[in-house]
Amino acid sequence: MHEQFKKAIPILKKVEEAGYEAFFVGGSIRDYLLDRPIADVDIATSATPVEIKSIFPKTIDVGIEHGTIMIQENGETYEVTTFRSESDYQDFRHPGEVRFIRSLEEDLRRRDFTMNAIAMNRFGEIQDPFNGQADLEKRRIQTVGPADERFNEDALRMMRAVRFVSQLGFILDPQTEAALCKNAWLLKNISIERITAEFQKLLKGPHKKQAYEILAKTGLSTMLPGMEEGKTALETCTAYQMDLLNENQLWLLLLFEMNPKDPMDFLKKWKLPSKKIKYLSSLARGLKLRMKKEWTIPALFEVKREAAMDIEAVYAILQKKSPEELLPSIEKLFNQMVIKDKSEITVTGTDLMDWYNKPAGPWIKKALHEIQRSILLKKVKNDKGAIKEWLQTCSQPPESDY
Ligand code: ATP
Ligand code: MG
Repeated sequence: MHEQFKKAIPILKKVEEAGYEAFFVGGSIRDYLLDRPIADVDIATSATPVEIKSIFPKTIDVGIEHGTIMIQENGETYEVTTFRSESDYQDFRHPGEVRFIRSLEEDLRRRDFTMNAIAMNRFGEIQDPFNGQADLEKRRIQTVGPADERFNEDALRMMRAVRFVSQLGFILDPQTEAALCKNAWLLKNISIERITAEFQKLLKGPHKKQAYEILAKTGLSTMLPGMEEGKTALETCTAYQMDLLNENQLWLLLLFEMNPKDPMDFLKKWKLPSKKIKYLSSLARGLKLRMKKEWTIPALFEVKREAAMDIEAVYAILQKKSPEELLPSIEKLFNQMVIKDKSEITVTGTDLMDWYNKPAGPWIKKALHEIQRSILLKKVKNDKGAIKEWLQTCSQPPESDY
């Protein structure tokens, strides 16, 4: 058995000694059977939250109304969730009522996909009433029970299905896929935050190309924020070497293909963190410029290294080249820069006011910008005296609109 399960065995044992059942469940079992790295070990039990609290001295209520208690044991924390059944999904989102039950099989029945509905006891024995192992073997994603019904209960499961395609490279069972097409519109009931969270996981998966194809094919893509008309853009993305891009770069590729009037507005629809929105929209601007012309040192200086690399990586795959081919020359330009940051410029606005005997105003910013450009282009040395002398050759303060 895997080390992470072994460490948690004392918890299962304690629960059993108190007269209840306890199993490892969910993603950790799936990943263990697939021989993939395990994220967190989740535990399911027949004991109610109150009963769990009476067994363990150190617990934290994280979602007690859903039956989840956090237990701290040997410096690790574990989520222990009471077996439950969910019924009456009135709003396609939250179960109308959570019922605590004593049957493992019923608990597994409410889980999304057969591969996620496998349990293991502390002796390593598997309970698999919905044949999840057979699906793992066939590398197939299939809902527990009728797909139509399961997606109607909770439409987020559709995004989860596609995200698992990206993470695992599995195929969709035909009925599950047909139900995606039929029920895609139900995604309107799911909060953007939850959709975005699944999409971000999708972007990090190694099989994102297949995932994009399914999003487009099933019509799920039209339900994504700002993507009502985005099917073709998504399909175009799959024609490129998406595998060579990281998450930010994939967002940039999507932005480029979507070409929204205002990238900031598009990203806001996804409710991404504002820092990320700002960064990605600056990349979108930069990529548009890059499509028109080669980098110059002053342009790279403004854009900064990380952003320039992200832009160039996407530019490369748009040109059907590999980022590896293009990035070294950018790196070289960065290494050639005589200054790395604005703060290194030896002249300040106060110096300029002094030398020109002029009050502060927008001219200072423009002049400093031109000085920065000239330093970067090695027209003048970054030395106060040299800059003062160079300025004297100009009849008035230099201006830069760059
Ligand atoms: P990950 O490795 O990304 O954590 P996971 O399968 O563990 O994948 P979680 O969101 O951690 O996903 O959920 C844990 C388990 O809870 C799942 O394996 C599944 O059995 C069940 N589950 C989660 N979300 C749903 C849902 N929307 N509907 C039904 N069952 C769900
Ligand atoms: Mg998990």
